[in-house]
This record gives sequence, structure tokens and C-alpha cells, in this order.
Amino acid sequence: MEFKYLVDSFADIKVIRYKVPGFEELSLKEKAYLYHLSEAALYGRDILWDQNCQDNLLVRHTLEKIIKNYKSRDNYIFPDNAEFNDFLIYAKRVFFSNGIHHHYAEDKIIPNCSRTYFSSLIESTLIADKAKNIGEQTNNLISIIYEPNIWPKRRASIAHQDSDIVQDSAVTFYKNLTKKEIENYYKIRSQNDKTHQLSLGLNSRLVKKNGEIKEIKYKISGLYSNPLIKICEELEKAKKFAQNNNQINILNKLSEFYRTGDLKTWNDYNIAWVKDTDSKCDFVNGFIENYNDPLGLKSSWESVVNFKNIKASKRTSIIQENAQWFEDHSPVNKRFKKSVIKGVSAKVITMVQLGGDCYPYTPIGINLPNADWIRKDYGSKSVTIENICDAYDKSALESPKSILSEFSWNKEIIKRANKYGTLTNNLHTDLHECLGHGSGKLLENTDPNALAEYASTLEETRADLFALYYMADPYLVKLGLLPDSEAYKCSYDKYILNGIFTQFTRVQLGKKNTQAHMQNRKLIAEYCFSNGGNIIEKRIRENKTYFIVNDYEGLRRLFAKLLIEVQRIKSEGDYLSGKNLVETYAINIDQKLHKEVLERYKKLNLQAYSGFVNPVIRPIKKDGKIINYIISYTEGYLNQMLRYSKEYSTL
Ligand code: ZN
Repeated sequence: MEFKYLVDSFADIKVIRYKVPGFEELSLKEKAYLYHLSEAALYGRDILWDQNCQDNLLVRHTLEKIIKNYKSRDNYIFPDNAEFNDFLIYAKRVFFSNGIHHHYAEDKIIPNCSRTYFSSLIESTLIADKAKNIGEQTNNLISIIYEPNIWPKRRASIAHQDSDIVQDSAVTFYKNLTKKEIENYYKIRSQNDKTHQLSLGLNSRLVKKNGEIKEIKYKISGLYSNPLIKICEELEKAKKFAQNNNQINILNKLSEFYRTGDLKTWNDYNIAWVKDTDSKCDFVNGFIENYNDPLGLKSSWESVVNFKNIKASKRTSIIQENAQWFEDHSPVNKRFKKSVIKGVSAKVITMVQLGGDCYPYTPIGINLPNADWIRKDYGSKSVTIENICDAYDKSALESPKSILSEFSWNKEIIKRANKYGTLTNNLHTDLHECLGHGSGKLLENTDPNALAEYASTLEETRADLFALYYMADPYLVKLGLLPDSEAYKCSYDKYILNGIFTQFTRVQLGKKNTQAHMQNRKLIAEYCFSNGGNIIEKRIRENKTYFIVNDYEGLRRLFAKLLIEVQRIKSEGDYLSGKNLVETYAINIDQKLHKEVLERYKKLNLQAYSGFVNPVIRPIKKDGKIINYIISYTEGYLNQMLRYSKEYSTL
């Protein structure tokens, strides 16, 4: 059967499947280890739902009951009418967001079907359940779902009159408390922490009851005891299949943390985890990111399970081994070069399972742990997730319309992008991360903060230029990193088009370009367009604007020229020249082009957000013994969501 990446699409969401290449070749022990960690990843799902809003699980259970009414055998036969369809879209959106708020915009999702219709669906399930107080229960649910004043935001960022961002947020990290009370509470505790190393508040709910403030820890026998027990059971099973003592140590520390909720243990776990760079199989499991807390103290539960992509990691190690060659041969002034260079270590991984706050919406790179002092003293693990990036790219090819086809001048460019796009994207990222940021040096008397507010844009510009310059170097073909001397051209086409034009689909008309990465891309593309004569050409066809690279070698010379200047600015701390570059090329968007790109993008009808269904891993038994684990990619989006609720409900 042909593998299809695109699984489902609704509202502003596209659901994609990802492959796990290399899973079959793993040893039985490695597969078993990954399997139990994957089970642990799924058992934490309800924690996140409850953290996001106290009514999330109630709404989810109701949606599931309504949908199950339409199940016959393994299939769902849904009524073919507009109102039911609107209900179903609402349900899919809630499943996707792990709650009733949009996963990204954070405001409450309101269904398009009428309240009356939704009420009738709820009532019929309550009747079937022989429930009591049917009217009251229905009204309650309808208010939670439709009333704009009940839980309007998952996390508020702007305070309203008579309230604050904590009181206006639906997340359950705090109860009956004001922002001020919480800040005071943790201020005292942080003064008592002489080490300044504990992530205070990370794993608890803070509650005020009868005038007394109490911290209820997420731990076994505390809050979220049930899911944490199940997670620890799976960690315990995984331990039997560990491939080395580091892994056993890491699993022990994590279990201990879940049993005790002790933040010192959490630090010990993170240190053990970050020091283990040799294990092939790895995972993230815990209360990790604090973006969902309006005060940035408390973390949402998440998990990912993965193994090292040996082949792709060879790419990063070839680059690291040749770091000195790249530094020596770069076009920048010798005075600004490092005489001894050490590449930044990074690896490429293959994702096996996503859970909690990483499912279904997921990051494409991970850099952990978050505690600054651990990063400083012990380093961090930086990974690129190749199979997830690959699935994004391939699913875009399955859509009939794409940015590439709409904005490319001819078929040759599209063909080249399809052939080399994924490879050159990955390689650009590797060159940028492993070499670009680490290259060059400051002159002895230069103040490291000299570039002030322009520093991050100029730093990203420098790293990108380093990558772009080397992308066209025959040495990459010689090292086997690129297949031929054609491939780099697709990365030049894409970079210019995106920097000058298509990236502004993400900016509102009339606004300026403010985000550092977007500024750096515009700076480079706009500089080359303005200073290169006919090297980049703007053409109009049927009232549509195109940007075409006429001379790839010439473009490379422009990248070199700009790299020389940006490195000089950084090395000398030349604030005025840096400011001048950013203000001339990076900030102001041509209004006519901006309007055009937004209109053309809108007509493509592309979904703004993508998320994933997980592959299914199952043990295969023979005579009562597990002889293998097989991985399959056939489960649909709704089926997966409903099965998870059936098999991994813990709250
Ligand atoms: Zn960067």
C-alpha cells in the first residue's frame, strides 16, 4: 500500500503521518525499550488536558460519547448534514488542541453548529446513559463550550480591569490566587533556596483555601497520582531492556522524581540525562516547558521517544570534523577568524512517539534541559528531528497547491526543489548551527554587547551567510554532503524568494518586519537584490510578481561580500554600520508586494498548522513470548484520538 502523509484536514489544521525509518533494523531489546517508553508517553496525555483547563476532560468525554453513537463495527457512519459536520470539526479541533482552546492562539474554540443542535446531541447521550439532571448537565456543558465569558483564554497575556493575567487564564496551575499573592509566595521560597538551583513551582498546583496557600505537588499520592503510577510502571518495564547503565540510572532518577516530587531529584535526573550522549535510544518525559503558565513557573507535561539517526548524524559529524577547513577557507578577513575551532556537537534523531504537549502539534528541534545553570555547567542536548521535517516536506508535495508552485517562475525550479529540497534544507540548518554561529572571533577590545538591539538579527545573518556561502562550495560535493553541483541552486532560489517575498504571509498588512530570523532573511535577500544588478531579477507575468536568480555564482559572490562585512561589524563591534544594514534592508516591507503575497497565499487555501498521528507499535507473541515489535502506519486521526481515550485514560 502506498504511504500517504496527509491523514486529515479541518479548520486551520492539517494532520500528517510520519515514518520511522530504521525501526525494523533495531534489536529486539531496543524495540522493547522504545515500546515501553512510548507507552509511558501516552499515559501522560490526561495530565496535559487537565493542566490546560479544569473542564477539558468533561468536554472531551462528552464529545467521545456523542461520536461513539455512530460507531458500527470498526467504522463510523456519520450523518451527512452540515450541522453534524460542524460538530465533528469542533470535536477534531478540541482533540488537536488537548482542550477547548486553540493550541496556538490560545483563545476558546467556538463550534459553528447551533447551540440547540449541540444540546440535542448532548441530551441524547445523557438519556442513553440514564443520567440524572439531564437539563442541568446539558446547560452546564453548553455554557462551557459556547459562553465567551467562561474560560475565554487558556493563557492570558494582557490584564483586564479588576483582574490579572492569572485570574484570566483557564490553566489550572493556580486556584483562587492573584498574581501578586503567587509572586510573594515564590519570592520567599526563592530567598530560602541558598543554591538558586531549584526550579521552584515547576511541578505543582498552588491553591488558596480558607485563607491558606498550599502547594499540591504533581506526584504519586499527590496530584496526578494515577497517570504518574502508570508512567512509572512503564519506566520500570523499560528498565529491563536498557542497553547500558546510564539509561538505568536515568530511569531510576525519573521514577524517584515522580514518586517524591522533589526538585533536587529533578536536577539530578536532568544532569544524568544531558550527560548521556552515547545511548542510541533516548527520550524526554516530564514537566518541561513553561509557556502555558502566564507567570512562566509551572511546566506542562510532555514526552517524546526517539533513537539516533546514525546515517544523518554522520552528516553532522563530517561537518564537525571539517570545521577547521571551513573556518580557514571562509572569505572573511584573517584577523577575524578563529585559529582553532571546535564545532558544536549536535545529533539527528528519528522520532518514534509523541506525547503530552508534543502531540499532535510538535517541535522540529529540541534543545534541553531548560535550567540555565545546568546548561552552563553540563551543556545541553541539541537535536534535529529528521523524520518529522521530512513528513512536513512530503505532505506539502501531496497538496495540489503549494507556495512553491504558486511563486516559482518555472517548472525547472519546482522540479529541482522537489529533488533536492529536503536535503539542502537539512544541510543549511546543519551548516548554520554547527559552523555558522561558532565561526569568527571578536577583536580583543570589542565589547561583546556592542551591537545591542541589532545583535540577534546580525548574528543570525552571519550564521545564515556562512551556510549560504558554503552551500555552493565544490568541497561539499567532495565530502559527499551534496550529490552534485546542481543541488545548491534550489537552496538559493528558496532563500531569495522567501526572504524578499513569501515569508511575509506571516505578517499582517501594514506591520513592520520585527522577528529576528525574519529580519535576517530579509536583510540578506534584499541586500543581494539591491546590490547585484541583474543577478536577481524581478519579473511580472499576468499581474503576478516573481523573483528569479539569473546568476548563481554571482549570488554566491554577493553572499561572500556581505559575510565579510557582517563579520567585520561583529568583530569590531561597529554598532552604527550594523544599525544601518538592519534599518536599510530588514525592517520595512514593500506595501504593494506585501498585499500581493497575502492575496495569493489566501487563494491557496493552505492550513496554517500541522500536527501528527503517531505510528502504532505492537508486540508480537509466539508461545507466550514476545518475539518482535511491529510498527504500523494505518491508524486514522479520529480513530487514534478515540483509542487513546479508551486505552490511556487515567483521570
Ligand atoms: Zn541561528
